[in-house]
Amino acid sequence: MKSTRRNFLHHSLLGGAGLGMASITEIHAATPAGAGQPETTDDIDVLVVGGGTAGTIAAIQAGRAGASVLLIERGAQLGGTMTTGGVAFPGLFDAWGRQIIAGIGWELVKESVELDQGNFPDFARFSQRHWQNQVFTNQFLYAILAEEKCAQAGVRIAYYEFPQAAVKTDGGWQVDCIGFGTKRRVTCKQIIDCTGGAEVVGLLGFPRLREDERQPGSYLFMLGEAHEPGRNQIHRLYVHGADSTNSRTATQANLTGRKTILEKLRKEGKRLMHLQPETGFRESYRIEGETIITVNDYRSGRKFDDAISYAFYPVDLHTRNGVKPEPLKRGVIPTIPLRALVPKGSRNLIVAGRCVSSDRLANSGLRVQAPCMAMGQAAGAAATLAAKHGTTPLEVPLKEIHDLLRNHGAIIPGDV
Ligand SMILES: Cc1cc2nc3c(=O)[nH]c(=O)nc-3n(C[C@H](O)[C@H](O)[C@H](O)COP(=O)(O)OP(=O)(O)OC[C@H]3O[C@@H](n4cnc5c(N)ncnc54)[C@H](O)[C@@H]3O)c2cc1C
Repeated sequence: MKSTRRNFLHHSLLGGAGLGMASITEIHAATPAGAGQPETTDDIDVLVVGGGTAGTIAAIQAGRAGASVLLIERGAQLGGTMTTGGVAFPGLFDAWGRQIIAGIGWELVKESVELDQGNFPDFARFSQRHWQNQVFTNQFLYAILAEEKCAQAGVRIAYYEFPQAAVKTDGGWQVDCIGFGTKRRVTCKQIIDCTGGAEVVGLLGFPRLREDERQPGSYLFMLGEAHEPGRNQIHRLYVHGADSTNSRTATQANLTGRKTILEKLRKEGKRLMHLQPETGFRESYRIEGETIITVNDYRSGRKFDDAISYAFYPVDLHTRNGVKPEPLKRGVIPTIPLRALVPKGSRNLIVAGRCVSSDRLANSGLRVQAPCMAMGQAAGAAATLAAKHGTTPLEVPLKEIHDLLRNHGAIIPGDV
């Protein structure tokens, strides 16, 4: 059977290439994709899906707290929108003249900037121009340092893989993942969904929220001048209708973004000096959590009983007509409750990142990188403690989560 297929391939390739082609010495018959049982099995405490802004931090926190952790990322590197999208100016770690978000995300950003001999904004100086307090970070260095920190924390990384199916077990979940040429079955106690669009939550059938019209995405590039990572502003253009829901819609966004850049290049006669590999997506699905953060909660700086971190950014909704950030009132610092990370009615499942349970306007401020990192760290801590106690994140005493986070450098609302 194998040799028949080999002969067939040999024959057709020679036929296609013409008679003048040299003889082909060996052709391997391919194994049909998806056939057979999973090739690899893992039995772990915590599965993190999505190694982006939030997921990297979640995985490192879980690993440092002693959990066995596998991080599944469908792309080729860590950092997500920060690195692959090129939005390497994380904010905001400060509010009203003081630092309000620290911990593992800040450690990684700080080390990236220091190793890159870059500069930090002065957090003691508050500016209404919020972008002045974002931290210019070298996207390439950040991605490599993130891998180093995962390795040091004992986190195993599986690139090019994503979950295809998941079922509940007595002690947690069984998740089947595929990559190219690979299949994996993961048995885990807890899942942290950091896919940006709550893809695992969707796969498991828990409710998600999404607007008919979403904020535009942006494609990042440099025309006519070099990109100096960690130093200069990067050029960007809106990709209206950008939709990260699935590979077809994401393909469309990338094609549109790159085509528009080509048109701009031809019009302006400038050289293309830098191009990110994919569109940055601002908005897709958010979870419907055990609580939903409303824009009133956000604007008023509501102190949730179960707050796990601060957040700080203007309400920042991009539309077809651009964006007009609405700064928060003097002294206001919003908080993020643990219940907004837990899909309603779920157990052994938690999310972190821009899919946090929130209404659209609250989400336009919560989605930025420093809060995503803080949520990632909190989700990593809660999932690890839940795995250790054989329970679910919302049943872990809040004080234990707070104590673990503080031990790993995080700032809990009320601390400062
Ligand atoms: C153009 C633009 C400008 C922005 N400007 C700023 C700014 O100035 N400052 C700021 O702080 N924030 C800014 N943001 C917001 C911020 O960058 C994002 O909201 C934030 O990075 C999202 O983090 P996340 O962890 O939720 O998702 P991401 O960082 O996008 O990570 C999600 C990861 O999950 C992976 N993934 C997805 N699905 C799967 C799957 N099924 N299986 C496995 N892996 C999967 C993805 O490949 C990705 O690596 C901007 C965003 C955009 C798009």
